[in-house]
Amino acid sequence: MPDNHLSLWTAIQSALREEISHTSYETWFANTNLSSIDDTALTITVPNSFTKGGLEKRYRPLLEQTVSAICGRPMAINFAVLEKKERAPVEPTLIKGPAPTSREKPLPLNPNYTFTHFVRGNNNHLAYASSIAVAEAPGKAYNPLFIYGSVGLGKTHLLQAIGNHISTDTSPKNIMYTTSERFSIEMISSIRNNTTADFRAKFRTLDILLIDDIQFLEGKEGTQEELFHTFNELYGQEKQIVLSSDRSPDKLSGLQERLVSRFRWGLVADIQPPVWETRIAILHEKARLRGIEVDDSIIELIASRISSNVRALEGALIKAIAHSELQGTQIAVSDLENMLPEEGKRPPLTVESIKEEVATQYNVKRRDLEGSSRKKELVQVRQIAIYIAREMTDSSFPSLGKSFGNRDHSTIMHSYMKIKNLLEDTPLLYSEIKEIQENILTKYTRRG
Ligand code: ADP
Ligand code: MG
Repeated sequence: MPDNHLSLWTAIQSALREEISHTSYETWFANTNLSSIDDTALTITVPNSFTKGGLEKRYRPLLEQTVSAICGRPMAINFAVLEKKERAPVEPTLIKGPAPTSREKPLPLNPNYTFTHFVRGNNNHLAYASSIAVAEAPGKAYNPLFIYGSVGLGKTHLLQAIGNHISTDTSPKNIMYTTSERFSIEMISSIRNNTTADFRAKFRTLDILLIDDIQFLEGKEGTQEELFHTFNELYGQEKQIVLSSDRSPDKLSGLQERLVSRFRWGLVADIQPPVWETRIAILHEKARLRGIEVDDSIIELIASRISSNVRALEGALIKAIAHSELQGTQIAVSDLENMLPEEGKRPPLTVESIKEEVATQYNVKRRDLEGSSRKKELVQVRQIAIYIAREMTDSSFPSLGKSFGNRDHSTIMHSYMKIKNLLEDTPLLYSEIKEIQENILTKYTRRG
């Protein structure tokens, strides 16, 4: 890195450290670097797509503000994922430190998640229209609004679009976007710190409460109880509540009936996977947002290979763009075809392919997943591979034991349970593993 870059990067880093907690900084910025800068944009290298996604979601606005302030002109931020040979092993999120606590700042809204940037289609028409209605007349149109649909179809985008829209209102509103896990974590830590009164006051005096991924409250009785009272309080004052879930209220079997019945009081709207035309429109929108021209042939190829998840669609586009940026030329259609095999032509998903994908993702060697090293990072990556293999194939614990270096079936079961339990309390790890699984599904066909 040239010297002038070095001092700029140091300045950016210290400004960031002042803004966010130590844990968040270490989690997200520890392995980042400044790669290039021009008049209008700065490119930061990141070790992997998770970090990139996390930074994109959480810190883009903060980074843009910080960098613009330091440079004295508006600057855009790009993230580039380092090529494999340049990177060090990546630690899974779970060894990076504790879950967020109530001391952390509220979750910021992603400024790109607006109605303007949301592409409408038949698949999301009702969810979109009702979100607009709610944003224009909070507490009046539909209360609560309950949006459901499978992962990567735009639920978070719509919830935040409502928040972003209302925050431009002339009369200021007290808006809170949170996830159900975060709600639960904050509640628990308020009990531990004797601050439940503050916690309640914070949630019960909101004008707009947007709670994402409500399905994570399944089985969490205490949090459901708290949410029930929060709901009643807000609803009684005609304050707007918007919820999202990966399934419809009827299918939320681990939630108290009285809570689920309240979710149905307003409007329940679903989001389905987008059809071809909508996929094309979304890809164009995403390329436009990044200010990058992408050939129609590339866009069409991506739209034809990925159909059920907009995040995966976007992920493929970002890969194609990153590839082009690193090579300095547009990615060849044939290379992209290899990266994204056709749905019917994907090889069957095996335990071996899972090992391969997990190893690549965390930048370790596949044989280390079979080996006996007890290095902490390796052990955890191995456990993740075992967990995913058990979830995505029908291999038994004994047969997984054979695949993972002749381990005993009880060891395998222990690894599986370890990750399964951790997932319930570690939302970041949860999204990380979901992302690996989605990535796997774009390359392989799962049996059965
Ligand atoms: P979910 O919360 O349902 O898992 P997200 O809201 O996080 O999904 O969406 C995943 C990604 O796909 C986001 O980057 C989002 O902007 C994008 N996305 C989803 N649906 C649309 C759409 N209709 N138009 C534009 N972008 C979309
Ligand atoms: Mg979401």
